[in-house]
Amino acid sequence: MYELSDMHEKCRQCGFDYARIDTERWNNNSARRVMCPVCGWTKHEEHQWIQEQPMLLKRNESHGFGAYRLVPPGGYSGYNAFHSIPDPAVVEHIKELLETRGWKGYLTLWDLTANRATLVAGSPLQKFDQAGNG
Ligand SMILES: [Zn+2]
Repeated sequence: MYELSDMHEKCRQCGFDYARIDTERWNNNSARRVMCPVCGWTKHEEHQWIQEQPMLLKRNESHGFGAYRLVPPGGYSGYNAFHSIPDPAVVEHIKELLETRGWKGYLTLWDLTANRATLVAGSPLQKFDQAGNG
């Protein structure tokens, strides 16, 4: 249904080229979620497929207020996004896990003044750390 080149999409908030795409399909419907691991921007779309042609049922976009990934020692975890300004206690908890508890991953927050995402703690595990410096 989707081409391999559709695995990534450009983020419409920060311009990062590798917003992650997750898809699900059931019966004649499909859902597609695009999430930017840098700023947390998320787009959600649902399609109904009629004779292999997609018809858009729903689409919504959420502004990103940051993103994080928390990988416990020996474990695995996906990416998460903030869609409102996170509680300072949440930010502190994530920082503590990354900085003193040996968890891998990263935390970014959206800087409203600078209008860009800033890396707050940890380090990104993927190639976008290079893009983030550019
Ligand atoms: Zn982004």
